[in-house]
Amino acid sequence: MKIMLQFPEGLKREALAYAKKYASEGHEVFISSSACYGACDICLDEARAVGAQKIIHFGHAEFMKLKSDIEIEYVPYEQKIDGKTLQATLYAAISELKAKKFSKIGLVTTVQHIRQYADIKAILEKAGFEILTEKGGAHVRHPGQMLGCDSIAAQKAAKNADAILYFGGGRFHPLGIGSQKPVLCADPFQVNSYWITDDIIKLEKRKKGALLAASQAKRFGILVCTKAGQMNLPGARLAKKKLEEKGKTAVLLVSNEINPRALDDFNSFDAYISTACPRIGDDHDLYSKPVLDLADLPRLLSLLV
Ligand code: SF4
Repeated sequence: MKIMLQFPEGLKREALAYAKKYASEGHEVFISSSACYGACDICLDEARAVGAQKIIHFGHAEFMKLKSDIEIEYVPYEQKIDGKTLQATLYAAISELKAKKFSKIGLVTTVQHIRQYADIKAILEKAGFEILTEKGGAHVRHPGQMLGCDSIAAQKAAKNADAILYFGGGRFHPLGIGSQKPVLCADPFQVNSYWITDDIIKLEKRKKGALLAASQAKRFGILVCTKAGQMNLPGARLAKKKLEEKGKTAVLLVSNEINPRALDDFNSFDAYISTACPRIGDDHDLYSKPVLDLADLPRLLSLLV
């Protein structure tokens, strides 16, 4: 069988070993060398181009049912943190939470650590905390799990919690949680914990600034991404219609990857509305014009005269 292997950035180092394994089973193996941002980003074009019958996507759980002639297998990456590291990381978090006298904690993590969710919860409960576990939106598979584009589990828990505890590495996921309640990160790779609330507030302020700047725009580029799990043509058409009703110029711009440098070559647009990954606009510094998410459209329309 012709097989296409796909790995997100942090797992590409494993690619050769897997390629050898599948080749030794008699398959013709290809590896997608395109960037891969999530399970929303399945390498269908590359697989079709080489006639692959199957894609094996490593690192993420299934995001959504894709209509595809090519079989897709998901191999989520689960990283087991050893008991000593888990305890040390959580003790750091516990002392932060106790210092602020928080007792009800909303606990979230990524699919990478979801199998250890019960262990994490048990350690926190033993330390005297009440742990709130909520289920996210349609794209998440497990209670307590979050994605970069789905922090619903954290937001639901925040209604009754004193604080949110994110267990995992990196800042991308916790920055998406929102500042409803203080957010503490317990990072098992640093074996430490740190508050990220101020950075979330900064990001929210910058988003507000982008919204105000876009409210002065006359010509909008509506960004449509062709990645299978990000494409939203109906949303893009709706944004165009609504902006035109307000007397603005709006054009659909289609690409597989939203590249700030490629957008810079269009001098014709004053602002962009992204219908792709809702975190695109987080990288404000990379774009020379304001980039809003489709979810910001109602607020934008209310500001336009
Ligand atoms: S849409 Fe964005 S945040 Fe969501 S899985 Fe894809 S890359 Fe990650």
